[in-house]
Parts: sequence; C-alpha cells; structure tokens
Amino acid sequence: MKAVVFEKFGEAPTIQTVPDPKPAADGVVIKVEATGLCRSDWHGWMGHDDGITLPHVPGHELAGVVVAAGKQVSRWKAGDRVTVPFAVGCGRCFECSSGNHQVCEHQTQPGFTGWGSFAEYVGIEHADTNLVRLPQEMEYATAASLGCRFVTSFRAIVDQGRVKPGEWVAVHGCGGVGLSAIMIASSMGANVIAIDLTDEKLEFAKKIGAVATINASTTPNVVKAVKQITNGGAHMSMDALGHPTTSFNSIANLRRRGRHVQVGLMLGEHARPQVPMDKIIAYELEILGSHGMQAYRYQAMMDMIHNGKLKPELLVGKKISLDEAPAALMAMGGFEGIGIGVVTKF
Ligand SMILES: [Zn+2]
Ligand SMILES: [Zn+2]
Repeated sequence: MKAVVFEKFGEAPTIQTVPDPKPAADGVVIKVEATGLCRSDWHGWMGHDDGITLPHVPGHELAGVVVAAGKQVSRWKAGDRVTVPFAVGCGRCFECSSGNHQVCEHQTQPGFTGWGSFAEYVGIEHADTNLVRLPQEMEYATAASLGCRFVTSFRAIVDQGRVKPGEWVAVHGCGGVGLSAIMIASSMGANVIAIDLTDEKLEFAKKIGAVATINASTTPNVVKAVKQITNGGAHMSMDALGHPTTSFNSIANLRRRGRHVQVGLMLGEHARPQVPMDKIIAYELEILGSHGMQAYRYQAMMDMIHNGKLKPELLVGKKISLDEAPAALMAMGGFEGIGIGVVTKF
C-alpha cells in the first residue's frame, strides 16, 4: 500500500510503498477514506512523543470502510463504515472496565504506538470495543474531523467541564479544538468567549456561536478582559492551544470555583508550565485534563450531529491528497488555517 513514512524525526517524510496491514485476531483493517491533519502528528514527527518507533507512518483521525476482520471480532464486518477514537482502549483493564477507555492503561494510538492512517489501509486492534459506526449521511471527511479534536472538545466541554446553560465559557485558541469547543458549548446554551491572535479566526468563531471575542495580540491583559466581559470571570475555561501563556490565562480568568480544562498538548519544553497555585487554592478552582473520548460516548454526539445541533462539517478546512500530506504535516508547527485539514485522496 501507499503510505507517508518518516525514517528520522524532523526529516521530511516521503511517500513509500509498504506492506499492507493484516488484522489482529480481535482487530480489523480499515480502508482509509479520509484522515485529518493534526498538530499532534507534527509533535510526533518532531520527536516529542516517546511512544513512536521508526520508521513510522503518522495519522490518527480516520474514517473509512472495514475490509477485513479478525476471527474474534463479532460486531464488525467488511463493508461497515466506521471511525475510531485516537486512544484505542484494550477493553479489559480497570479503566476500560470502569468506562474510561480514553485513559486505558494499555491503550494503543494509531499513528503513535503503531502505524497510522496516512496510508491506504490501517489496522485497528480491539475492534469490538473501539469502532464507531458512521451515520448513513455523514461524509468521510466530516467523520475523520471528529476523531481527535471534535471528540476531545466534546468530552472537555460536556463530561469534564460540565458546562451548564447560561454559564460563561472562555476558549483560548481557535484552531480545530477551540472552534469545536465553541460550537459544542454554544449548542449547550453557554455564553462563549473566543480568544485568538487573528481576527479571521475570531470572526469565524462568532459565526459558529461565540458571543464575544478577544484578540490576544492587541489586548494587553486577556485575563482582565475576560473578567470584564463575564462580570467576574468564566465558569469554565479551556486552553485549546497548549501553550504556557494560554494555559495560565485560562486558569487565571476563572471566577471562584471555576473549572479549567487543559486540552491543548503541552509537550517538550512546555510540559511543565507555571500554574497560579495560590489562586487554585483560594478560589477552589478545578484543574482537569481531557484526553479523547470513549467510543461508546460518541452516540450522544452523533445524535446531536444527526439532529443538526452540531455541525462539524463547518469545521472541515482544506481537503488534500496523500501526496500533499508530507508538506502539510511539516507545516503544522506554524499557525493553522481555519478549520481541520483532511486527506481525502489516496
Ligand atoms: Zn484498557
Ligand atoms: Zn489529532
């Protein structure tokens, strides 16, 4: 099969012909119809993720058709249209048994712990636990765009952030994660403030539900601005970018007993950022992480999409071919364009 391969961290990936994957006994092979481009792929390529062994095929936001299933797989067969969370749970450990597959002790991640979906085919283990059926009307590009950023934001806003109607929610960073969070929190009746460095992204944030915007490049004190707009601070706030400054601001702009959810990855030199611990104690703030979403939790989100309450297709950015993926991947370290780029031609 054709795949995007890198043999050294930080060196340009190339298109190569590699052996087709075979299904594990409890796994499937999926013919990839769409795969999203994500900043995590860039982190992986740069060598910030110690789970990767070389040579490597990246890609973890995928949708496609099952073409082969191992003999222990009972719920899936060739021809099924599916997607999969980026953190694939084993289905057997304590966390999986308690419903928390997103933090499985033995999780695998396509495109990180094994070869991913920047390829014509990808193998996924523990298929019965992890595959998600696509609604009939959903396009593959939309389904692929859910895989990492949209589902992570769904869990961050709904399950971890516990956003309620009428609350103020601050979203720091309007890339794929941030825009997803803005759409989801708005659909739940929250008042969302979008924060970014570019007016273009802030305009788009308004279109999908933000009631206020802050351009951090022209606002000297973002924390003060959020407190002014919200009359005291956000109830829930999220660092959707993953940077010491946005993380700090997201905690510091909370009102008393507010909740901060960290979604943007903090890797390499950013792994141990400063936190305003004095305020966390005095205000009884909650600091939460959010790491993907369990396959079984997709149903609520899929129903909201089916009924038009969420429109992830609006967040799909440019569509490219696999041949264009190496250059696009290397560019992910810079500022993204609006929306989620997706490979749709293989
Ligand atoms: Zn597990
Ligand atoms: Zn991703």
